[in-house]
Amino acid sequence: MLTTMDKLLRVAYREKFAVGAFNIANSEFVRAVIRTAERADSPAILQIHPNEIDLMGDDFAAYCVQAAQRASVPIVIHLDHGRDIDDVVRAIRNGFTSVMIDGSHLPYEKNVELTKEAVKIAHAQRVSVEGELGTIGNTGTSSEGGAEEILYTDPDQAKDFVDHTNVDTLAIAIGTSHGFYPKSMKPKLQIDRLSQIYEKVNIPLVLHGGSDNSEEDIRGSTKYGVGKINLSSEMKRAFFSELRNTLNNNPNGYEPDALFPSSTQAAMTVIAYKMQLFGSAGKASLYQVTAL
Ligand SMILES: [Zn+2]
Repeated sequence: MLTTMDKLLRVAYREKFAVGAFNIANSEFVRAVIRTAERADSPAILQIHPNEIDLMGDDFAAYCVQAAQRASVPIVIHLDHGRDIDDVVRAIRNGFTSVMIDGSHLPYEKNVELTKEAVKIAHAQRVSVEGELGTIGNTGTSSEGGAEEILYTDPDQAKDFVDHTNVDTLAIAIGTSHGFYPKSMKPKLQIDRLSQIYEKVNIPLVLHGGSDNSEEDIRGSTKYGVGKINLSSEMKRAFFSELRNTLNNNPNGYEPDALFPSSTQAAMTVIAYKMQLFGSAGKASLYQVTAL
């Protein structure tokens, strides 16, 4: 069933688990996420970045909406890193139930202004909004990019931002980066900073760059209000590594139904593991009693 981020994360926040937001760039990933969620009895978020909608076109969104409506578990369709109001409006027109407006690279007041405008437009359509304060790092391995230097989210500023913008969820910077980390760099999340943000801000928090972090950090984050964790690189790497093997082993192969199933299975293995780690597996039934 298709639902909004606001409704999805209200339960996650209360029960202290996080829902995975998986970046989908084609129908194989859509099926991988929904099938795994149904098997694990887990809610899930289908997340589409502007680069991905540019690749697939607006009709892809219609496919995602229908797939979400037919799913037996709660599914949100979310715009990842909306750059401006045009991205937000395009996503709403395409049936997304949640949008992110990313003004984190702007001066603070400009970020507030842009986010407020997005909230006004989205809430009029009952669509949820994720804002971002602080910057997510860039390991140089993801097309999402990121900032050269991580600016950590300030807890007092986070409260001010939420009060002034009325966002439903807030992406925070506590030490994660997009993509994979180089071997020399071990990511360590600032759980202390997270707990201070959690004390001051009463909405679900979002962790970007969920690949490659320690299990301990991930479990720790869900105790302090993280209700959504973005996952892209690990799932895509599993899919394309397997596809590379399949193509190498079948140099003359060309039928999609012969080439894709093992790659989809490899992605599903990562997704299932993350649903367990984030604590969302087995939680879809909690939504039966919550009015969607
Ligand atoms: Zn991100």
